[in-house]
Amino acid sequence: MASIELSLTEEQRALRAGVLEICKRYPAEYWRDLDTRREYPEKFVTELTQAGYLAVLIPQEYGGAGLGIREAGLILETINYSGGNAAACHAQMYIMGTVLRHGSEEQKRRYLPKIATGELRLQAFGVTEPNSGSDTTKLQTTAVRKGDRYVVNGQKIFISRVLQSDLMLLLARTTPVDQVKRKTDGLSVFLFDIRKLKGLEVRPLRMMMNHSTNALFFDNMEIPAESLVGVEGRGFSYILDGMNAERILVASDSLGDTRWFIEKAVAYSNHRVIFGRPIGANQGVQFAIAKAHVALEAARLMRDKAAALFEAGEPCGGEANMAKYLGAEAAWEAGNACIDCHGGYGYAEEYDVERKFRECRLYKTAPINNNLILAYVGEHVLGMPRSY
Ligand SMILES: Cc1cc2nc3c(=O)[nH]c(=O)nc-3n(C[C@H](O)[C@H](O)[C@H](O)COP(=O)(O)OP(=O)(O)OC[C@H]3O[C@@H](n4cnc5c(N)ncnc54)[C@H](O)[C@@H]3O)c2cc1C
Repeated sequence: MASIELSLTEEQRALRAGVLEICKRYPAEYWRDLDTRREYPEKFVTELTQAGYLAVLIPQEYGGAGLGIREAGLILETINYSGGNAAACHAQMYIMGTVLRHGSEEQKRRYLPKIATGELRLQAFGVTEPNSGSDTTKLQTTAVRKGDRYVVNGQKIFISRVLQSDLMLLLARTTPVDQVKRKTDGLSVFLFDIRKLKGLEVRPLRMMMNHSTNALFFDNMEIPAESLVGVEGRGFSYILDGMNAERILVASDSLGDTRWFIEKAVAYSNHRVIFGRPIGANQGVQFAIAKAHVALEAARLMRDKAAALFEAGEPCGGEANMAKYLGAEAAWEAGNACIDCHGGYGYAEEYDVERKFRECRLYKTAPINNNLILAYVGEHVLGMPRSY
């Protein structure tokens, strides 16, 4: 039976303290400077990897710590709470789940121990395409088997961390949609080395925040046939299997952001004196921050519930989706309260509020937009008609 632990165990506290210790070495100036230059936090990610934190979900037999989703979430939450941005490295935690669940023993032995040590990075996950967007089964990238290779053609958009990753997990169509029974059939997942790969063009995109995101073009890109993960044609279900973990982890990013905003807002509005008293004494300022705190507590409980169900191997689709939704909305609410109470200073780069504000906004849109989360809840939790 799953149950929610309301407090952290001693091990979890130690884990959080260890992550915070690293984060302290990467203060606001570090993230601010990288943000201005749109550069990847290479040093931070390397240190985090070497300390083993990005491998906590990898089982011990493959060189990881073999911990659970709650610990993984705690790590990401701590990074964002400290003022950093876990988006630079969170994907590895949920991408490698696909390999773990559906990869062959050979693939696990080849990749997981090296991912655990940091010798290989798996940070790139290629799903979204310009012509299909959220409608994943309509993706147009094809992978055609030719002897001992697959030949990949097509394009992807908004694929993050490709230039900072050694490996990529890719979703492509292996059987044309008019030759399958269900549109979810005929899609396959591939795991391959992207270093010096011919036929792959990476075009970096400058985004609203520092996110190392790219457009990808595949022009007869050849990958070894053994890149296929699991059974050809079943890739869509493999990706779906990883969604709950992804939602819980992304919710954790948002919880960290929310706490950062709230603490910053409380400190500023207790200290800033206007009209002869701290601005926090005004209900218009105080209640917005208090509301964000209420949203944070609710989102945290839902994240913890989803994590507890996930760990117990029980269905958690509804809870994982709701956690992602509540987390993203709480961060957005807290971000607005924080920027509002800072007045003009909320827009000044040196206060970091505007940077975190831009960073937290992403989770209302990606990896899935909150409208589609509501569509999931309507259809799968409430039993209403499919809305799309
Ligand atoms: C910074 C960044 C990083 C990303 N990194 C990655 C990555 O590493 N890998 C990857 O594969 N993808 C990545 N993405 C893509 C992201 O997952 C998509 O942007 C997202 O899934 C939405 O797809 P879209 O942009 O094509 O929007 P669309 O599908 O075109 O939707 C646009 C908007 O329409 C609304 N909408 C669409 N359909 C419905 C519906 N049925 N009901 C109600 N509303 C609807 C939603 O509000 C949605 O936001 C990233 C995106 C960003 C911005």
